[in-house]
Amino acid sequence: MNTTKLLVIGGVAAGASFAARARRLCENAEIMIVERGPDVSFANCGLPYFVGGEIAARDVLAVQTPASLQSLLNLDVRTRCEAVRIDRANKRVEIRHLDSGSSEWQSYDKLMLAPGASPLRPAIPGIDDARILTLRNLQDMDRIAAATETAMRAVVIGAGFIGLEMTEQLRRKGLSVQLVELQPQVFPQLDAPMAALLESELHRNGVGVTLGDGVTRFESCADVVRCHLTSGKVLDADLVILSIGVKPDTEVAAQAGLQLGPRGHIVVDAFQRTSDPDIYAAGDAVETADRVLGGKTVVPMGGPANRQGRVAADHVFLGDKARPYPGSLGTAIVRVFEVSAGMTGWSEKRLQAAGQAYETVTVNDHQHATYYPDAKPLTLKILWEPGSGRLLGAQASGFEGIDKRLDVLATAILAGMTVEDLCHLELAYAPPFGSAKDAINIAGFAACNRRDGLVKHTTTLPSDPAVQVVDVRPKPLAEAFPAPGQVLNIPFPTLRANLDKLDPTRPVVTLCAFGKMSYFAARVLAQNGFDVASFSGGMKANVDPRSPGKMPTV
Ligand SMILES: Cc1cc2nc3c(=O)[nH]c(=O)nc-3n(C[C@H](O)[C@H](O)[C@H](O)COP(=O)(O)OP(=O)(O)OC[C@H]3O[C@@H](n4cnc5c(N)ncnc54)[C@H](O)[C@@H]3O)c2cc1C
Repeated sequence: MNTTKLLVIGGVAAGASFAARARRLCENAEIMIVERGPDVSFANCGLPYFVGGEIAARDVLAVQTPASLQSLLNLDVRTRCEAVRIDRANKRVEIRHLDSGSSEWQSYDKLMLAPGASPLRPAIPGIDDARILTLRNLQDMDRIAAATETAMRAVVIGAGFIGLEMTEQLRRKGLSVQLVELQPQVFPQLDAPMAALLESELHRNGVGVTLGDGVTRFESCADVVRCHLTSGKVLDADLVILSIGVKPDTEVAAQAGLQLGPRGHIVVDAFQRTSDPDIYAAGDAVETADRVLGGKTVVPMGGPANRQGRVAADHVFLGDKARPYPGSLGTAIVRVFEVSAGMTGWSEKRLQAAGQAYETVTVNDHQHATYYPDAKPLTLKILWEPGSGRLLGAQASGFEGIDKRLDVLATAILAGMTVEDLCHLELAYAPPFGSAKDAINIAGFAACNRRDGLVKHTTTLPSDPAVQVVDVRPKPLAEAFPAPGQVLNIPFPTLRANLDKLDPTRPVVTLCAFGKMSYFAARVLAQNGFDVASFSGGMKANVDPRSPGKMPTV
């Protein structure tokens, strides 16, 4: 049997996964990994946690080394080597040895491109200050960790998941941290109300949060980097973390004439084949199929990268008998101190921007039975396709059990489930773990109530004075945390006795703390002939994170 030579460019998530699977499928293939950095197969996702000290030992992040890959998988790993050019006609790649400066050509039968994506570093004046750092690999992490030994003040620019994780870890390390985000909310992937708890948690932990503002220039002073924002605000830092997104590392692929998507990602088929059938690509550098609504998407996350690498290796050895990569959902989660939040599938704002019809409900519940100690609130939002009821997306935020709900909902989306299906998902339940009716079932019930016409929801409080807003919370709560505008407080237990206080000719919106009592109230009113809508998610889902004292605490 002829020996197949596989050449892999990029030796971390997708590249290492490809190489390992290839070896398991073919013991006698020649497999070479070419990696620009000094490390392969390291845990990029763990980098922030070493900076804050939560992961104590640096070694655990180097999941494999060139030596371990050689001994375990018989891989020829070349670190500090950069692929600079692909000669497709002769099926070879020019490799530059970064330490010696010398170059060589390596041939391939099949080439895997797994170059990932690099942090954006836009040409803002002053960006070259050595105190402005990005985080992608262990060396970046070492630079940041070293800086935190003396730095007192950090500015983190960008409140996506890496910015949020770094903010948390820098606070943990004792630095004063200012977080700046161009969008008017943190974790912009989420719909704004679902990100509010994250933001209030940042405030609660002493993080300064500036939203809807961006850096226009950095001023390098002897003892400080001065960050000038569009608003005129100036933030001083000993250390700046730039986490404003990534761009695919696809210059070599572009020079080789491989087909790229509109944002520079490599176009691949379901088996991760590029426009050249002998070249595969996977990970952050590729675009992939959107598993919810079809078309193309980009999901620069660890799970897709690892699984795509495996699919490509399968295809090399099994051909079209390999199982294709079905596409990505965009499932993501972040933890900020005590709070976690995440999403799967499409968000409301993305659906709106795409002009896609959808319906949505938000419910508040707990991670397990409320009578069992340490019950903590969680908020769940689901989105579905109007006619069919098929799930399009979900978001969750809270203190515990967020990952579990997102994972179930991600699976439900992939299975093509509808909101009706959520009602009777039979999930693990005993008091320490869940509730007899899990938050996911409740979200299904709420959606079905809506679809059955039992309740109308509104996500905004009306400004029209003709609409009667009825707050059905207990009087002390309604007084302590008043809802905005002209509101009539009729606590739910007294509602039936006070129907005469409402004008049956005018519409009503009911509101409460969590959206449940207002639904009960809406049912009472609807059955008494009122035109009524319930304020979805209640005051909690619409909390103002900048003034948390104005809202009910949980
Ligand atoms: C700080 C941080 C935290 C993260 N946390 C999470 C998380 O919690 N969950 C999650 O799902 N994802 C997370 N991610 C994202 C995840 O790490 C990436 O999606 C994943 O690593 C992408 O894999 P990849 O193989 O495409 O690219 P990478 O893992 O980035 O590997 C690409 C490698 O290719 C090398 N390379 C590039 N060009 C060349 C060339 N021309 N020649 C030789 N070598 C080259 C690069 O040096 C790099 O080492 C995180 C990323 C970072 C940076």
